[in-house]
Amino acid sequence: MTKRIDGKARADRLVADVAAVTAKLKSQAGIAPGLCAVLVGEDPASQVYVRNKGKAAVAAGIASFQEMLPATITEAELLALIGRLNADDRIDGILVQLPLPAQVDSKKVLMAVDPAKDVDGFHPVNVGFLSTQRRGLVPCTPAGVMEILKRSNIAIAGREAVVVGRSDIVGKPVAMLLLNANATVTVCHSKTHDLPGVCRRADILVAAIGRAGMITRDFVKPGATVIDVGMNTVTDAAEFQRFFGGNAKREESFRKRGSTLIGDVHPEVAEVAGALTPVPGGVGPLTIAMLMFNTVKAAKMRRGSRTPELSRA
Ligand code: NAP
Repeated sequence: MTKRIDGKARADRLVADVAAVTAKLKSQAGIAPGLCAVLVGEDPASQVYVRNKGKAAVAAGIASFQEMLPATITEAELLALIGRLNADDRIDGILVQLPLPAQVDSKKVLMAVDPAKDVDGFHPVNVGFLSTQRRGLVPCTPAGVMEILKRSNIAIAGREAVVVGRSDIVGKPVAMLLLNANATVTVCHSKTHDLPGVCRRADILVAAIGRAGMITRDFVKPGATVIDVGMNTVTDAAEFQRFFGGNAKREESFRKRGSTLIGDVHPEVAEVAGALTPVPGGVGPLTIAMLMFNTVKAAKMRRGSRTPELSRA
């Protein structure tokens, strides 16, 4: 029987661990870690993400700042704001919520964030630290995947890991983290031949594709651990039935909301996998928890020389 990995419970424990470190930083060194979310425009999904991140910051004892900017902002204005946040000592983590409007070059903005405050781990300096196994800030979703494996006692060293997806924000850093943890790693993408056959080699299969239910049971070796990073919204009733027909709870929620969230892994995989992360409630909550972890890590690393005892905490 497949073990359902509860990401929410693991995320709650991680946030509680972070809150304990935050309390220690405050009481022993007078440091209050701060996270600033930068939101441009009024994209409803981005507003929800930023709100959830703000709530998690409060739960972790982190001071939460928000910069809400109009969609008409110029690139120069946004770069000037990033410059001010880089210089603001109350802020340890800067999170630029993507996507940014077309007139702004996202890469330029992400490059402008001080690598020491880059809690998303997207800056090339942090990418380089990850690939050369130096201490830095690791992207939150990939770090969340590793946290799930670690907190579920799933062995990694010496095992076959297959990652489907090679994006800079998920696929590549997950592959690097698994390699750093001594897995034998294969990275697949849209040009990979015999994808099901390659995936069936995996003891640990990570799906980060962005295609609803694409990973069916023929992709999975019986007993494998399957981590579903995908977040896809299904609104079509026929598509919904194809995935969830007969699931009364999901049907009721679909009727109420007119949509449902599904990962890249087909629900039938639960019949063959040894362990599986659900969507929602798997990798998503860990991503937000890792953002809190990164903010406190940034706060400690920035002040490492001033509070060496806490930088080891
Ligand atoms: P992305 O930038 O679009 O990358 C998708 C990757 O999947 C690409 O490498 C692409 O290959 C590959 N791919 C697409 N179709 C394929 C196919 N038919 N066969 C094999 N590979 C295929 O997406 P992303 O930003 O990495 O996100 C992936 C998913 O994770 C999305 O559903 C996203 O919403 C979700 N996500 C979740 C969280 C979370 O917190 N849970 C965070 C971030 C992202 P090519 O490179 O060849 O095009």
